[in-house]
Amino acid sequence: MNNLQKVDDWLRSSKKTVVLTGAGMSTESGVPDFRSASGWWTKTDLQKVATVDALEFNYPLFHEFYSMRIRLLEKCAPHEGHHILAKWEKDGILHRIATQNVDGFHFQAGSKCVDELHGSIYTFRCHSCGQSASKESFLAKERCGHCQGYLRPNVVLFGEMLPEKAWQNALSNIQSADLVIVIGTSLEVYPVNQLPMMTKGKKVYINKEIASHASYFDCILEGKAKEVLIKLDELLSTNK
Ligand SMILES: [Zn+2]
Repeated sequence: MNNLQKVDDWLRSSKKTVVLTGAGMSTESGVPDFRSASGWWTKTDLQKVATVDALEFNYPLFHEFYSMRIRLLEKCAPHEGHHILAKWEKDGILHRIATQNVDGFHFQAGSKCVDELHGSIYTFRCHSCGQSASKESFLAKERCGHCQGYLRPNVVLFGEMLPEKAWQNALSNIQSADLVIVIGTSLEVYPVNQLPMMTKGKKVYINKEIASHASYFDCILEGKAKEVLIKLDELLSTNK
């Protein structure tokens, strides 16, 4: 039995399957991956712009960076891999997605049971008083109508806590899962990289580059997220 068949087998027998996705899930939608060698990470020091410090003390840079990301994302869309996961949820094969991505592609593809661990780039609030704001107000560099504070997207910046509810949901679902499939994350960002280790179920790792974490997993599928998901879906669709 090869690894694809093994995972196909586990997907069929699992009573609760949770998927954890990272940047590699979005790169095939044309979204640059911060940490791959060709990604923005090498061109932009994220630790200098995606921070509370930048927001508070260098707002023009912070604003320029997120305006650019929002405009880039407007040109991208979910790919077949996102649609396959949405279909699996509908078919009862997949029970929950936890994602590090802020692009909302899982929701756009039709998935409903999604925890966005690093927030969403499509909703906005005042950094000072928390009042929600529109995308248009943010892009126009307006200040908060309530307190004149800086507007910001609802993403988790370096130095901020993860959203409590999303984190607790992801944690409890992963702990009680029979099967956890990690897709397209380098597992470098704490604390999300701890999540796969919290399960007593089987752990599968799908990634383009299999990093040093490989030994933690029961099965490895090396390849691009979309391509591996298409192959798995083909297997699942046969001999139903
Ligand atoms: Zn405010």
